[in-house]
Amino acid sequence: MPARPPVTPASRVQLDPAATPVTVIKGVGRQLAAKLARIGIHSIQDLLFHLPSRYQDRTRVTPIGAARLGTEVVVVGRIEHTGIAFGRRRSLLCRISDGTGSLTMRLFHFSASQQERLVQGRWLRCFGEIRRGPVTLEMVHPEYGVSVEKPTVDASEGLTPIYPATEGVGQGQLRRMARESLHHSLDCVAELLPETILSALNYPTLRTALDYVHRPPSDADTERLQAGTDPAQQRLAFEELLAHHLSLRLARQQRRARRAAAMSDDNGLLDAFWGALNFPPTRAQQKVCAEILEDLRRPVPMLRLLQGDVGSGKTVVAGAAVTCVLDNRYQAAVMAPTELLAEQHYRTFSRWFGSLDAKVGWLSSRVSGRQRRQVMGALGTGEIHVVIGTHALFQQGVEFQRLGLIVVDEQHRFGVDQRLALRDKGSTSDCVTHQLVMTATPIPRTLAMTFYADLDVSSIDELPPGRQPVETVVVRETRRAEVVARVQVACRQGRQAYWVCPIIDESEALEVQAATEMEAALTQALPELRIGLVHGRMKPKPKEAVMERFRSGEVDLLVATTVIEVGVDVPNASLMVIENAERLGLAQLHQLRGRVGRGSDQACCVLIYRPPLGPHAKTRLATLRDTTDGFEIARKDLELRGPGEVLGTRQTGLMNLVIADLVRDHGLLPRVEEIGRLLANKHPGNTKALISRWVGDSEGYVNV
Ligand code: ADP
Ligand code: MG
Repeated sequence: MPARPPVTPASRVQLDPAATPVTVIKGVGRQLAAKLARIGIHSIQDLLFHLPSRYQDRTRVTPIGAARLGTEVVVVGRIEHTGIAFGRRRSLLCRISDGTGSLTMRLFHFSASQQERLVQGRWLRCFGEIRRGPVTLEMVHPEYGVSVEKPTVDASEGLTPIYPATEGVGQGQLRRMARESLHHSLDCVAELLPETILSALNYPTLRTALDYVHRPPSDADTERLQAGTDPAQQRLAFEELLAHHLSLRLARQQRRARRAAAMSDDNGLLDAFWGALNFPPTRAQQKVCAEILEDLRRPVPMLRLLQGDVGSGKTVVAGAAVTCVLDNRYQAAVMAPTELLAEQHYRTFSRWFGSLDAKVGWLSSRVSGRQRRQVMGALGTGEIHVVIGTHALFQQGVEFQRLGLIVVDEQHRFGVDQRLALRDKGSTSDCVTHQLVMTATPIPRTLAMTFYADLDVSSIDELPPGRQPVETVVVRETRRAEVVARVQVACRQGRQAYWVCPIIDESEALEVQAATEMEAALTQALPELRIGLVHGRMKPKPKEAVMERFRSGEVDLLVATTVIEVGVDVPNASLMVIENAERLGLAQLHQLRGRVGRGSDQACCVLIYRPPLGPHAKTRLATLRDTTDGFEIARKDLELRGPGEVLGTRQTGLMNLVIADLVRDHGLLPRVEEIGRLLANKHPGNTKALISRWVGDSEGYVNV
């Protein structure tokens, strides 16, 4: 074919790749565009930023004898036989051999001319996945080429990028579209990182980086590219993390630009609140209360994260914040992730506020009919001052008369989308509700700075006095009888115990069944003990009745599913047995264990496991046995599971990261924060452009 003259297509002149639809690429029609739209690709810019998730080295030929099942490789061999097989499905088979073994290429769709070219004695080069066939290894519909001469490997080919795909769009198409987009628009992609930053970080320009990752040169450092640590990839990862960080900063700025009710805190109700408690607040509780009250005094919406280890006394702090708001004749709402915890808060707050003449209401998804209408009515008229509930609080048009504060307890249990949905609740166009979110899952500092940049953070860094660390032992399930004996001794001494039966990755029904069976077995083994059972399938009334009997000491041993995981507070309970401990995560075990050690008795936690233990499970159990420090446990958790899991955002899509990987790239975070500040101050225009390039408004932050 004669070389075509180098024409510049008319479309090349088009500038903004973000405004250019994918259909300008030759061969991309409406149908393909619709498929691309499914994975969020609309414009040429989207194609440029649809980055390879990995690479394949097609320059290396694998001897057939050494090819492993399931791997994608290049093989080269001489055609020994070509023929059509008439089985369940007609297929064209072409067997090759390279002296180390034979392999069959199988095509279900083929033309006569394809068949004609696969002549015995010619060379076939295939790239595809190795599968097991009836006679030889097989490749089904590989990418292939036929030649008369033995094909020489084209070393200039470099690595082949593999893109995140969608049904109906092949890798070949994605590669071609990426190349076309580079050709079409690379010169028009805006560099949004200032030159000074690029050179300070030693990063290539955006254009160089994009070109490099889509078309790695033949001398590229293969290992670095595969690992995602090439400077070109790191530059893109950095820019992506920066964009997410900036979107949160922007959200914070926009929130701060809005108004909120300024509360005064010199009306005396707070003194009454503190006076009614039977303990003085710790120094740490006083400190965080002061920070919160300081926020509430200002006419700017508070959005504060209160972190404090399990048992550090966050509820009282929430109580103080609520008191301040009530004293200013505003309402408050407290939201908990489980019914059980919400019920407990309801009791606690009722006790606190009963003596302060404030009315506490209760709302969960189980409150229905007339009762629900009544509560909703009372919220609307302001008759209820504080309402406690589950996420049902913020569904189905619950209206407040004058909501001044929302408290979200154990916020790691709520998805980010729920956190976002909350922001508008109780807010009017000119006035935003203050928010306090609480968590026992400490977030490592760099992560918090980068990904909670829209929040202020307060930490409770000491436990109430007199607490002794929970002593933790790890035992095999074959020693369960000894554990039962231990429970018997403890309960005879007037102590109370939990026996937790979690089943992981299975249905709640199975968990309930396991707990029910365990209760029966324990009742038989320990006839003199008063044993109760709680699980998630019980109706609220009987469930609350059992909890009440446990709280008041009428039940010695509470057999439970993981419904008791968060928040439950019964200080006299000092022994906890956890079944299947090897299958639970560190954070969850720490939370569960936090149910004991709340009183002054030496508490004990027994972790029962079933061997064999994998290396991670072993580390988890050992970590828990050796430390009770929530921060240390969170650090270990981060190491074992990675930040996405720890932040609990993998599912909720806070960080829909395309190229950055928080585990691999967490070293970039301090810089992200630093450059983020600089950019926001000096180059606000770039900030917006970066956010729309990488984040869009899908996180809902930008327009909050
Ligand atoms: P968490 O931070 O896990 O939510 P809670 O608020 O449930 O902790 O408090 C744990 C227990 O500690 C509760 O029984 C609470 O009454 C008690 N507590 C809280 N603050 C203090 C304090 N300053 N002195 C003594 N006990 C306290
Ligand atoms: Mg709590």
